[in-house]
Amino acid sequence: MILPYQTRTITGKNLVTTRLGTWIILTNEELSQLCTNTLEDPLRERLTLTDIIITEENRDRVLSNFRRLNANLGAAPSLHIICVTDRCNHNCTYCHASSPEATGVDMSIATANKVLDVIFSSPAKHLTIEFQGGETMINWMVVTHIVTQARRREATSGKHISLVIVSNLSLIDNAKLEFLSIHQVAITTSLDGPASVHDANRPFLGGGRSTHKSVMRGIELIQNHYKKQGKPAPLSALCTTTRASLAHGPAIVDEYARLGFEIIHLRPVNPVGIAKKRWDLVGYTADEFIAFWKTAMDHILKLNRSGIRIIERQAFMMLQKILAFRDPMYLGLMNPSGAGRCVLTYNYDGKVYASDEARMIGEDIFCLGSVDLGYEKLARDPIVAGLVQASILDNTCGSCPYIPWCGIDPVLTYAAYGSIIPQIPLHRMHQIHQAQFDYLIEQILTHPDPFSAFYLWLPNLDMTLTRARLGDRILALDMR
Ligand code: SF4
Repeated sequence: MILPYQTRTITGKNLVTTRLGTWIILTNEELSQLCTNTLEDPLRERLTLTDIIITEENRDRVLSNFRRLNANLGAAPSLHIICVTDRCNHNCTYCHASSPEATGVDMSIATANKVLDVIFSSPAKHLTIEFQGGETMINWMVVTHIVTQARRREATSGKHISLVIVSNLSLIDNAKLEFLSIHQVAITTSLDGPASVHDANRPFLGGGRSTHKSVMRGIELIQNHYKKQGKPAPLSALCTTTRASLAHGPAIVDEYARLGFEIIHLRPVNPVGIAKKRWDLVGYTADEFIAFWKTAMDHILKLNRSGIRIIERQAFMMLQKILAFRDPMYLGLMNPSGAGRCVLTYNYDGKVYASDEARMIGEDIFCLGSVDLGYEKLARDPIVAGLVQASILDNTCGSCPYIPWCGIDPVLTYAAYGSIIPQIPLHRMHQIHQAQFDYLIEQILTHPDPFSAFYLWLPNLDMTLTRARLGDRILALDMR
């Protein structure tokens, strides 16, 4: 049986995908054979090997690949984001946070204990607890309380806990680092690029010192600490792209490479909360972001060819889906949305939201209630079902071949357009995702070296399958 399929022409070749995530590249003549059901070998054989045609022999493999590609569908909330304070000593152009002197915006120990009760009631075996703010280290007492209690509960619950703290690193010192190291807490910081870009995006509240210098001090402290222990530092960084970043893609990538980061996530700023209010200052069109992202990607692939290992996280997650049937469990690429299904976010005041974005939009439309309700009631809130229904791409994306790999966050859709149902041709994230998928497929098809680079990004690829998908193109590569 031939699976229902959709097509897109890229650089003169035809990408054919099925809703199950299987795909192949066909010439016009081959596509014509498929469309008119006049298949002959070896094309029929290629279509069977790539699971476009289902037989008794490949049926189980197709189902197991589909399950792996969509692992999030059977998952319980495993990512738990805790906003321990809304206070911050930075005044970033795209972020709303309260001043360090604000009162009533820190999580209390009593609320933290209720948050832990909810988290440990999730049926997920592997739980990730991520501390967010404001600047998390301003409420260090609650961070340490949650970390020690989570490790204690881990020992008796049979669950596996990963802990991550997101921080601007301005307040990190040896004592805090020692605590994080002992309790195996990974650290994520914000780094928007070299000093000129980072300082423009992320000034200290009240101006003055360079936040770039401050984050460099923190990164160095962490890297030296783990170097002394002979371990790789569990440190990563997040990059937010604002209008001030657009002209500096390669320089931003170089800054990450210089500091030894092997992953950079070039995220667009979303018109949410304060960024929406300051859109004239921080915002840009989808086309402007796409041009920035492609320039940065070209630079990354150039660095890869010169032996420098650095990958772009959005591209990496898309490639995991395209090339390896792997679900990166990333909220921004889930179909339907994982907000409230895979992620829960706890505000400092005990309110629980469907995602971190839901907390930040400035209204409580996606608030599931208070921690006092307990896990069962929160997880079954009808808001979660509404978010799922609104974000099923099969309902909104027609015959787009990227449906098996794509995702549109309904919370961000609501924040930007006032409705949770995406109007696809005009939707900003659709335009960005489509251009990113096009770029990746185009690179695989036209550039031998980038394909080699992607192959290095995913070293355990099934090359027989990859050869069958690409047909004569990869055979031409073999002959180089
Ligand atoms: S959002 Fe756009 S790129 Fe993604 S599946 Fe829908 S139409 Fe395709």
